Amino acid sequence: MTYCTSEVALRVRPMNHEEFKMGAKVTARTVDSNLVVILDPTVDPDDILRANRSREKQYIFDYAFDQMATQDEVYEATMKRFVCDILSGFNVTVFAYGPTGAGKTYTMLGTPNSPGIMVLTLNDLFFKMKATENDVIYSVTMSYMEIYNEMIRDLLDPKRGILELREDVNGETVVAGLSEIEATSTVQVMDLLSKGNMCRTCEPTAANKTSSRSHAILKVVVRSRSRVMDVSQDIHIGCLFMVDLAGSERASVTKNRGKRMVEGAHINRSLLALGNVINALAAGHDKVSYVNFRDSKLTRILKDSLGGNAKTVMIAHISPASTSFEESRNTLKYAARSR
Ligand code: ADP
Ligand code: MG
Repeated sequence: MTYCTSEVALRVRPMNHEEFKMGAKVTARTVDSNLVVILDPTVDPDDILRANRSREKQYIFDYAFDQMATQDEVYEATMKRFVCDILSGFNVTVFAYGPTGAGKTYTMLGTPNSPGIMVLTLNDLFFKMKATENDVIYSVTMSYMEIYNEMIRDLLDPKRGILELREDVNGETVVAGLSEIEATSTVQVMDLLSKGNMCRTCEPTAANKTSSRSHAILKVVVRSRSRVMDVSQDIHIGCLFMVDLAGSERASVTKNRGKRMVEGAHINRSLLALGNVINALAAGHDKVSYVNFRDSKLTRILKDSLGGNAKTVMIAHISPASTSFEESRNTLKYAARSR
């Protein structure tokens, strides 16, 4: 029996100083814990009266978080209940989606004072393991990598250069030469992740000073075995992927030429492939077999975790500001579609 679930959340970040300075207004907001509305500033008020057209577009999500939502609230609604599933051998994947500056890294990594989902999930995982360590033997390893222009690099050890994908003897896709570190505490993990994040390929674009053009993937593997000697007892292997996706803004918005255009094409392609996979998951498990995971390195790496006993959560991010209207609407469309 396979059992998979796929959920989509949306988080609206607070307005920032630059947006206020530019005179931006709030165009996107949550109405309740599921509904998000966006006002289309391009619709002429006369048009609204004439054609009975509304400036408001509504999008429904499994969870909608407004600017007041804390890191804990986002974590508790989306990932918390999956921690036990990982320990019992399920595969769980969480993605942060959205344009540069919308809050993906804040949600995933957070800050030392407001740690994000990567840290809170691992914290809970370590806590639950400690509570059952008299009965179960655990081992936890973590890897942290980025995909930039379809090239894979080890964020924990960038000196390893460009890494290739291989299929192992079981037909599973592995990143050859990727380092795996034995993880023991949240403090250690936060330190490794912060250092790893500084190695990400961040390049200035017209849209933002530091836009991340790479997908950052944290992979955590939990192996568990009962302490009671019983040869028939299986080893459970739970795999957790936490992915901070590359900015979803389109190449045209960032006025990109040359190298930037190529990056944009690679990013669009992998986000499209990911959207198709998540749509197929939401539509029913039997449809997943038709999805072409080979379309991008991102979906190839995640394939084994998205196909089988999988639980996925996508957290899409937007700015509330009128100056980000186009990008916010594109994000709402993409995310609402991938339910
Ligand atoms: P992204 O990773 O999507 O490019 P960031 O996570 O780096 O965006 O967020 C951009 C800025 O906005 C950062 O300074 C971040 O601290 C801030 N920010 C994002 N989301 C929130 C939030 N929910 N609450 C407070 N600050 C936020
Ligand atoms: Mg980021």
